[in-house]
Amino acid sequence: MSRDAFYLSIKSDSISVVGYPFLLQYPNKGSVKDLIFDRQSFLGANSQFLFENIKVGIIGYGGGGSHIGQQLAHLGVKNITIFDYDKMEDTNLNRLVGGVYTDIKKAMFKIDIAKRVIKKIFPKAELTLIAKKWQQAPEELQTCDIIFGSVDSYTERQQLEAELRRFLIPLIDIGMDVHHSGGYSMSGQIILSMPGMPCMSCYGFLTEEKLAKEAAKYGNVGGRPQVVWPNGVLASTAVGVFVDLVTGWTGNSDGVYLSYDGNSGKITNHIRKEFAPEKCCHFPIENVGKPNYTKI
Ligand SMILES: [Zn+2]
Repeated sequence: MSRDAFYLSIKSDSISVVGYPFLLQYPNKGSVKDLIFDRQSFLGANSQFLFENIKVGIIGYGGGGSHIGQQLAHLGVKNITIFDYDKMEDTNLNRLVGGVYTDIKKAMFKIDIAKRVIKKIFPKAELTLIAKKWQQAPEELQTCDIIFGSVDSYTERQQLEAELRRFLIPLIDIGMDVHHSGGYSMSGQIILSMPGMPCMSCYGFLTEEKLAKEAAKYGNVGGRPQVVWPNGVLASTAVGVFVDLVTGWTGNSDGVYLSYDGNSGKITNHIRKEFAPEKCCHFPIENVGKPNYTKI
């Protein structure tokens, strides 16, 4: 998609042109000079200004989302919206970055752990914390410029991607799994679902077969194996994709479908990326915007 193909007006005077890289225009112009961010000034003269103005959403503040929240704070991303309705439990402590032992007893909301971590690193941060499913607060989702998705199921990924395509919001999806067949194998993915470019179905990541298999197992999934370090690798890589998208510092304009092999520690372009169509046929342009319902 050409960078100026689609326009999404957020406020009357601020415009984000969705594409690779993003083109973000805000009424208040200027650059942010702060010694704190001196070492990342190579990202561009206005990079800190962009980080202070862009609005970023995180869906799911667990093993992946907590790394993302912490890193966005270090980067100086000011406007962050976090969706998570879960409270801290025993089984979360092995991977929820910023969560501490006493949070379990207090049954702290994960979004409150997020607030504690992010505000301590970056007090200027303006957080919108939503203890609901994203489906229950769509208007909050729609005000974000970009979303990090760290959700558990293929079905939820499919729903989230469909909602975000409708509102021309890029989605950076991460996820990991540990499989057992003989030995254990760990794998994960980082996918950028950019409006106009290949989607998760184009990439063959979301398939009817996977969705049907998951639906058949519904309610019987159990506690899946999860550990801290692959979540860190995936989240860090996703934050890198975000920074590139916003600042364009590498000059890349290619799609992103990265595959992580947790056993060897390698991140590579997924083989299916080569075979993805150039344009997506799953989310036609006429379906952009709020859906219209007709009475039957
Ligand atoms: Zn598609």
